[in-house]
Amino acid sequence: MLQPFYPQNADVKVYINGELYHRDEAKVSVFDSVVQGGDAVWEGLRVYDNRVFCLDKHLNRLQDSAKAMFFKNVPDNDTIKVALFQTLKANDFLTDTHVRLTLTRGEKITSGMDPRLNQKGLTLIILPEYKPPVYDSNGVSLITSTTRRNSPMCIDSKIHHNNLINNILAKIESNLAGADAALMLDIHGFAAEVNGTNIFMVKGGEVHTPHAHACLPGITRGLVIEICKEIGITCTQRNISLAEFHAADEVFMTGTMGEITPVHTIDGREIGYTNGQRPITKRIQNRFAERAAVEGTPIV
Ligand code: PMP
Repeated sequence: MLQPFYPQNADVKVYINGELYHRDEAKVSVFDSVVQGGDAVWEGLRVYDNRVFCLDKHLNRLQDSAKAMFFKNVPDNDTIKVALFQTLKANDFLTDTHVRLTLTRGEKITSGMDPRLNQKGLTLIILPEYKPPVYDSNGVSLITSTTRRNSPMCIDSKIHHNNLINNILAKIESNLAGADAALMLDIHGFAAEVNGTNIFMVKGGEVHTPHAHACLPGITRGLVIEICKEIGITCTQRNISLAEFHAADEVFMTGTMGEITPVHTIDGREIGYTNGQRPITKRIQNRFAERAAVEGTPIV
């Protein structure tokens, strides 16, 4: 599940504060807040067929994250859209593209933690890359990591910030265990999410997903909850224990980068689906594909 280098990305042009740079020249200052303290917020976007999927939802979440982080003079959504479309067109990336959009607190006048040292404005980075969905569509394996997902008592998971060490440590555990990704529990021992995706389980024809208390309220997660309603499947948000995940009929993870990916094993327990079929996951994936094929903000 290690992402490959795609030659299409060899000469990617990256937007940084109004200018486009070749990937080799695209750099931020060593005084930038993202270097100094991971002091930034971000979004991952996906482009399908000349449209950016769920763009307004992503930009609204970016604005909410920036507000919670007390960023000042945040560019509005329309300004970000213009920069995004300019970047995509300059790269001729109009489908099968993933965009990493990062907004940092900007450059500091001297090294230090205090946001009052940030006197040069925010740094907006738009990094598009050719990237088809990254996970194996046949399914992935998970291990449960010992690293717990932050509770709002520590860092609120509703801020989509760049302090990703929590999740990176979990990912290292899964790498060392030879699994594809790490299931993270909350501080009470209930499942929270996978290190870079949200998680769902199916039991007895119904879908369940953890509360968003200790996970990112993912845009894809929200869409899946919506799709369940649309196609008449009950979806409940609740505390879900690990044993319930081990004994689930189907499990899948959700995220912009990998869309809806089945999970075939958790901690060595095969997820029991009937005759190799994952009927509920399939129905949700089909509806997701239908929506992704027609929805989204046109790149103009
Ligand atoms: N959880 C984490 C920790 C993530 O980083 C992401 C991707 N940004 C997700 C879940 C999935 O969120 P989304 O569906 O909005 O891409």
